[in-house]
Amino acid sequence: MLYNSTQNAAEVVSSAQAISQGISKDGGLFVPQEFPEYDEATLQSLLKKDYKGRAKKVFSDFLTDFTAEEIDECVEKAYATEKFGGNNPAPLTFCNLDGKELNILELWHGPTCAFKDMALQILPHLLTKSLKKTYDGKTAVILVATSGDTGKAALEGFKDVNNTKIIVFYPVDGVSPMQKHQMNTQDGNNVTVCAIKGNFDDAQTGVKKIFTTPSVSEKLAENNMLFSSANSINWGRLLPQIVYYVSSYCDMVNEGKIELGDKMNVVVPTGNFGNILAAYYASLMGLPIAKFICASNSNNVLTDFINTGVYDKNRQFYTTISPSMDILVSSNLERLLYKLSGNNDKTVKGWMDALKSEGKYEVSDEVKAVINEKFFGGYCDDAQTKATISKMFKEQNYLCDTHTAVAINVYEQYVEKTGDTTPTVIASTASPYKFSKAVLEAIAPNTEISQDEFDIVDVLNDISKTPVPAPLANLRNKVSRFSDVTESNEMESYVLSALGIE
Ligand SMILES: *Cc1c(COP(=O)(O)O)cnc(C)c1O
Repeated sequence: MLYNSTQNAAEVVSSAQAISQGISKDGGLFVPQEFPEYDEATLQSLLKKDYKGRAKKVFSDFLTDFTAEEIDECVEKAYATEKFGGNNPAPLTFCNLDGKELNILELWHGPTCAFKDMALQILPHLLTKSLKKTYDGKTAVILVATSGDTGKAALEGFKDVNNTKIIVFYPVDGVSPMQKHQMNTQDGNNVTVCAIKGNFDDAQTGVKKIFTTPSVSEKLAENNMLFSSANSINWGRLLPQIVYYVSSYCDMVNEGKIELGDKMNVVVPTGNFGNILAAYYASLMGLPIAKFICASNSNNVLTDFINTGVYDKNRQFYTTISPSMDILVSSNLERLLYKLSGNNDKTVKGWMDALKSEGKYEVSDEVKAVINEKFFGGYCDDAQTKATISKMFKEQNYLCDTHTAVAINVYEQYVEKTGDTTPTVIASTASPYKFSKAVLEAIAPNTEISQDEFDIVDVLNDISKTPVPAPLANLRNKVSRFSDVTESNEMESYVLSALGIE
């Protein structure tokens, strides 16, 4: 299977090349030229497999330049039982809210307690194997822009991995205290963490710019290095996310929630559009998904886009209690638009250029029509998010994080509006303890809130009786290693200096 750039169809690469490089030189994203087809017999055969078995099948269909042994090794190491606290790294939990069945897909049982682990535990394995095939002997420099969870998950995945260095940028006031502490205490000899004065979009724009500045790439090449990406613009990030939609469908069938062949809906709390795109890609492979429900917080640029076909980032930016979704430029939307425009690289490039120059573009009526048929967009604000956390806790004794609460809230809006009773899987993307303050305020509004993050964790644990994940509990006594803050327009010199090649 080969991959194209969304902005230049003539750029054709292998999967190893796409994963090593992260982003195409023209600034486009790599997309598979076609999708494997999973018919009912294929799904039937997957029902009997465990998560790793399902993962191996999906990986082998997309990474055709990897051997079966290589894929086995990547999957076995990444999803080892001890890393995800059990044999199924993506288990379903069943709740019932006001008569609506909620099938909650918990994606946060990995080492950093957010769904990013699902992809970032395997990406380093895929990347080191890809480098060997394409750029043997070079060191990959992983640049990461994070709204909080990607940074830690990438650091944890890449720490001390041979032939890699990783530099993470996060918005100085845009991540939760737990997220900041997780990143600043990171171990490893190949890791650097730096805050930037700006928001996530500034960090992401800065990283993309460094990637596509020829003089910087040349400097790296002279030093036997090359850039790669651990953001969801990297194909090696997106592919592992397809697996858990396939796996959750199998689990829904095995649990008797649906019959094989029946459709389900998915609800995804969305920021950069990677997670929900993975669900859409799964449906292109034949996974029976009826509706993609895209949930946003007050940064509701995607809600408006789905409803009007106009993407307009010229709007107020809000810092919310679901910070991993505080994003106005959703990078992976570009991949959806490429598919929906009939793989038209010129059209996509036109829209992306307009986004850069005017902060805005409008898609064609044909594209709008498909988006309308397949997607539902909704959003809720912080007060509604807290109300949903409180309701889930009171009525279901289930403690959910702020991002998951946004998804549940928007799902309720969807059902109210449409009356659709199709069984639905809701992606739960983080442990509530990553956002303890907001979650505690939601379930116990009159509790005094301590200044100390770990005191808040204790109180939340006491009130909710929900266990604190070990990786977060163990952070309590770790000492901070990183405290740099830089201007967003100085990221390039920061990177060169961190690599010792100014
Ligand atoms: C990254 C993240 C999201 C958004 O996912 P995208 O793939 O960027 O749309 C939602 N929730 C949490 C907890 C996250 O870390």
